[in-house]
Amino acid sequence: MIDPDELATCVSCGLCLPHCPTFRATGEEALSPRGRIAAMRAVQVDDAPVDESFVNFMSTCVQCRGCEPACPSGVPFGHLMEATRSTLASAGRITPWWQRAGFRVLAHHRLLMAGSMALAVAQRLRLVPKRLGLGRLPVRRPGALRGTGTDVWMFTGCVMDAWLREVHVATARVLQGIGVTYAVPGAGGGCCGALHVHAGLTADAQRLAMDVMASMPGDAPIVVNSAGCGAAVKDYGHLLGTEVARQFSARVLDVHEFVAHHADRLLLVRRLDPVIVQDPCHLRHVQRTHLAVRTVLSTVADVVELDDEGLCCGAGGAYSALEPELAGAIRERKLGAIARAGGADGTRVVASANPGCAMHLQAVGVRVRHPMELVAEALG
Ligand code: SF4
Ligand code: SF4
Repeated sequence: MIDPDELATCVSCGLCLPHCPTFRATGEEALSPRGRIAAMRAVQVDDAPVDESFVNFMSTCVQCRGCEPACPSGVPFGHLMEATRSTLASAGRITPWWQRAGFRVLAHHRLLMAGSMALAVAQRLRLVPKRLGLGRLPVRRPGALRGTGTDVWMFTGCVMDAWLREVHVATARVLQGIGVTYAVPGAGGGCCGALHVHAGLTADAQRLAMDVMASMPGDAPIVVNSAGCGAAVKDYGHLLGTEVARQFSARVLDVHEFVAHHADRLLLVRRLDPVIVQDPCHLRHVQRTHLAVRTVLSTVADVVELDDEGLCCGAGGAYSALEPELAGAIRERKLGAIARAGGADGTRVVASANPGCAMHLQAVGVRVRHPMELVAEALG
């Protein structure tokens, strides 16, 4: 159920439209934030039917939340969309059983690892359609991270650990480089529930949030190197609506926020070639910590900006697999910006702090690395 007060905050000014990737790709008002809010109002206030068009307007939203910082009225679009999707999923209108089964695997780490291996092998046998936008999954990965102490918790996640564990290894090296020890979450601390929230599976997301909170007790800071996970864990206070959850969320820091405070401790042995910085939406529009990425990256390389004002790349968690055509059209704009910044054909590295964005761009040949990998490389 949408909060009527939140829904009423939109004054239909349209200032958000240029910041919406689906509006930019299609030019359709119904696929803009203002159009989607109007559709929500029509259903909630005027008893309009929940027909296929309405479901399509909601399903095609990337949930990038690029509309939020652009909105002078402070419309909490992310919460409106999450509530709408939760209602649609409860009514069986979105997120069919096979998607729900896929999302449930994320909470079972061993099963996820086995499934990832099978998918990686299938990729090499060319059995996975390219339109799904999956980057090349690893057949081998480094050993699981072991804690070194108790200064901070390092959240390792589900897909991030299964597909991009080398980013955790690099993050561990950077933390070591600034003299900080870390612990890894205990049992149940794998999946943060971000994709479940996006899919409208609110009860599943709440269960996962409780497990994650139990896996990292105490009051040590929690550092997160995936933008999407960090945004989700910082929002547990809203998801669970409890004081305990709010206090837990207050301990969470994006890893760049944390490292930026201690960047002067890094003993770097070399400077890297210039890198293009790509802002994951959940870092720029939701956590709003993208400047910390620049602070950290600029210690190891000159930072080249994109000229698209942080427009979404189209990855959107599972969006690139579920809405491949629109995700591809949105990505085309991002590729244009990357080309103008000198990153066409992999000639210049793109730094991105979100696994979804990284894989979505890697799938079309962009050289993407996590900022922590670049800092670790400069440590020697
Ligand atoms: S969401 Fe905000 S920016 Fe967009 S139309 Fe409504 S009030 Fe204007
Ligand atoms: S969340 Fe992103 S895709 Fe959805 S309406 Fe807002 S700007 Fe558009």
